[in-house]
Amino acid sequence: MITEYSLSSITMATPETVKGDVSLKISNGRIKEFKKSSQNDFTIGDGYFLFPALINIHDHLFGTYYPKIGNGPYICWLPWDYDLKSSPIYEERNKNSAYEIYLLGSYKNLISGVTTVQDHIPHKVNDPFIEKLPIRVIKDYSLSHEVSVYDLKWGDGIDVEYKKAVENDIPYITHVEEGFDVESLKGIEILEEHGALSEYTILIHGIGFNENDIKLVAKRKANFVWCPGSNMFMFNRTAKIKDILKEGINVSIGTDSPSSGEINILEEIRFAKKVYYEMYGEELDDKEVVRMITVNPAKALRIQKDLGSIEKGKKADLLLISKTYDNPYSSLVNAKLSDIALVIMEGKPIYGDENFAQLFNALEVDHERITVDSKNKLIVGSPTKLMNDIWKNIGYKKKLPFLPIQ
Ligand SMILES: [Zn+2]
Repeated sequence: MITEYSLSSITMATPETVKGDVSLKISNGRIKEFKKSSQNDFTIGDGYFLFPALINIHDHLFGTYYPKIGNGPYICWLPWDYDLKSSPIYEERNKNSAYEIYLLGSYKNLISGVTTVQDHIPHKVNDPFIEKLPIRVIKDYSLSHEVSVYDLKWGDGIDVEYKKAVENDIPYITHVEEGFDVESLKGIEILEEHGALSEYTILIHGIGFNENDIKLVAKRKANFVWCPGSNMFMFNRTAKIKDILKEGINVSIGTDSPSSGEINILEEIRFAKKVYYEMYGEELDDKEVVRMITVNPAKALRIQKDLGSIEKGKKADLLLISKTYDNPYSSLVNAKLSDIALVIMEGKPIYGDENFAQLFNALEVDHERITVDSKNKLIVGSPTKLMNDIWKNIGYKKKLPFLPIQ
C-alpha cells in the first residue's frame, strides 16, 4: 500500500482563499506540502473544487431514521420528545441494532461530504461503536443534555462536566433554550451562574435567546450552533441568527437528527440560506456558510490544529465537489449528493465517483460500488449489506432519502 501520493491540478478553497492549479502531497494521512509527488500523482484537473471535508457539529446518530416525527409547533423540546418516543416510526427504528443505526448515520453524513461528526449523546452510548464507523465521531467532549429543569441528566452535571472540558482542553456541549417557556428561557442565566460560559462552551439551538443572552454569549466567547431545519420543524421559529452573527459569535451549522432536522448537511445549509432570506430579506453569504461547516466547527470543537481547513501539517480530510458554479463557495452551497465527487479522510478515499477507482485501489480501501442519484460511486465498507439487514429487520424495503443507494 502506498503511504504517500499527491493530488494535482486542483482548484482549492482553503476555505479562506481560493487558489488555482495547486498540488497537494499527502503523506501518512496528513498534508505534507503543496507539491507534486514524483511517484504517485493523481491529476484531478478542471471541473472540480477541493475543500476541507465537512464537519457536522450537531447530530444524534442514534436518531438516524425517517420520516421526521412531530406535530408542532411545540412550546419546548419536551412534548416533542414524548411524541417521538410514542411514535410507530420510533418503534420501527428500534427493530434495528444501535450499531446498525450508527452505521446508517455515518453513511448519511459521509455521502454528503462529512468526515467529522459530533454525536450529542452520553459517552456510554456511542463509545462501543466509534472505532467501527466509516467516519470520525468526536470522542473528546463533555456534555449536558440541556441545562433547564427538564434536563435528561446526561453527564455528571454542569459543574463537573464544564471542569472536565477546561482541564482536558475539550468542548463542553449542551442544548440550550430550545423552547419558549419560563424554564427553557433560563438557560444562559443558569450557565452563567455556574461559570460555565466560555470559549470551551458549545451552545446548541438558543431559539429563546434574547438580546442580553446574545451579548453575554459574545462576551464570554462561547460558540453557537444553528440548526434551522430542526427549529423550524419543531417550533416554526429559529434563533436570532443575524444578531448572533453581528456580535461576532463563532457560529456553526448542524443538522440535528433527521427525526427533526434536514436529511443531511447539504440540505441543512440550503435551508439555512432560505430561512435567513425569509427572516431578513437578504442573502447569507455562501463563503460565510462554508465557514460554518468547516473552520468554525473545528474551532468550537477544539480540533482546529488538525481539521477544518487545508493546511500543511493538518489531517488530509478533503472534499472534492463537481464545479457547478464559477464560485467554489456557491458550488458547495448548491451541491447535490451526486456532486460529491470524492471524500478523503486522513489520506484515505472513503467515498467518491468511480473514475477515482485507481486511488481507492492504490490506498487498498475495502469498498463497494453503489449508485447514488443515478451516479456510480465507490464507498468504504458495505452500505448495501446494511440496507439489506435493515430491510430484513423491519420486514419491508423502506426508502431512506439520506441514503438513496441502489
Ligand atoms: Zn439536538
